[in-house]
Amino acid sequence: MLEEVTITRAIIRRYLGKLDQSLELDAAIVGGGPAGLVAGKKLAQAGYKTALFERKLSVGGGMWGGGMMLNEIVVQQEARRILEEFGVPSSEFAPGYYTADSVLATSTLCSVAAKAGLTIFNLVSVEDVVIRAQRVTSLVINWSAVQMAGLHVDPLTIKARWVIDATGHDSEVLHVIARKVDAELLTASGKVMGERSLWAEQAESDTLANTREAFPGVYTAGMCANAVFGSYRMGPVFGGMLLSGEKAAAEVAARLAAGE
Ligand SMILES: Cc1cc2nc3c(=O)[nH]c(=O)nc-3n(C[C@H](O)[C@H](O)[C@H](O)COP(=O)(O)OP(=O)(O)OC[C@H]3O[C@@H](n4cnc5c(N)ncnc54)[C@H](O)[C@@H]3O)c2cc1C
Repeated sequence: MLEEVTITRAIIRRYLGKLDQSLELDAAIVGGGPAGLVAGKKLAQAGYKTALFERKLSVGGGMWGGGMMLNEIVVQQEARRILEEFGVPSSEFAPGYYTADSVLATSTLCSVAAKAGLTIFNLVSVEDVVIRAQRVTSLVINWSAVQMAGLHVDPLTIKARWVIDATGHDSEVLHVIARKVDAELLTASGKVMGERSLWAEQAESDTLANTREAFPGVYTAGMCANAVFGSYRMGPVFGGMLLSGEKAAAEVAARLAAGE
C-alpha cells in the first residue's frame, strides 16, 4: 500500500535532515564539475564534513559533453590514476593519452563521491558570501529556480571553515568577493584576472599551480583556478581538473588538520 502523504513527508524530512546536517561544514564546495567532485570525494573520505552545491539539475559540469558534444574525454598519463581510483574505465589512444566515455566518467565521479560521504545539493546556487575579519566564513545560497525566475526571495546561509570555488570559467564565488569586498584577492592584480585563450599543455600545468588560496578561506579548483589567476583554457582534456580537485582537497585537509 502506498500513501501519498507519507511519500511527501519522507522527502521533506529526509531533505531537511540533510540540509540541517550541512549548516556547519568543514568544507563547502561550490560547483559540481569534475574538480569539485574529486575534491568533495577526497575530503568526505578523509572524514571531513563536506557538502557540494550545484546550480544545475545535473551534477558533472562540463564533462558530460566531451569535446563539442562528442562524448569522449581525454585524460593525460599523470591523471589516469585518478580515473582508476574512481573506477572509470579508460583506454590508451596514443602514448600518454587516455580516453574515457564522458557519460560513464561523469556519472561514476558523481556516484563515487556521493558514496564516499559527500552531500550533494543540486539545484542550489551560491549567490554571495559572509566575510568576517577579512575571511570568508559562510556561503549564501538560494534555489536556482528563484534566481532563474527573478523572484524576490531572501537566501539562507551555510557556515564553512573552508570554501572551494569550483565553478569553472565563471569563478562565481571569487567574482562575488572581488565585487563586494573592500579587499584584494591573492592574485597579481588583486582582482579576478580572467582566462586566456586555448593552450592545452600550458593550461593543464597552470591549473595545478593556480589551485591555491585566492582569498582567506577560499581555494580555487579546476577551470576556476586559471580564470582567477589569469591563465589559459585547455579544451576537452580533463586531467588537470581531476588533479586540481585532488590538490585543493589535500591543501584544505591540511589546513583543517592544522585547526584553521
Ligand atoms: C557549458 C560549459 C561549456 C564549456 N565549454 C568549454 C570549452 O569550450 N572549452 C574549454 O576549454 N572548456 C569548456 N568548459 C569547461 C570544461 O568543461 C572544463 O574544462 C571542465 O568541465 C571544467 O571543470 P570544472 O570542474 O572546473 O568546472 P565545470 O565543469 O565548468 O563545472 C562548474 C560547475 O559549477 C556550477 N556553478 C557555477 N556557478 C555556480 C554557483 N554560483 N552556485 C552553484 N553552482 C555553480 C556549474 O553549473 C557547473 O556545473 C565548459 C564548461 C561548461 C559548464
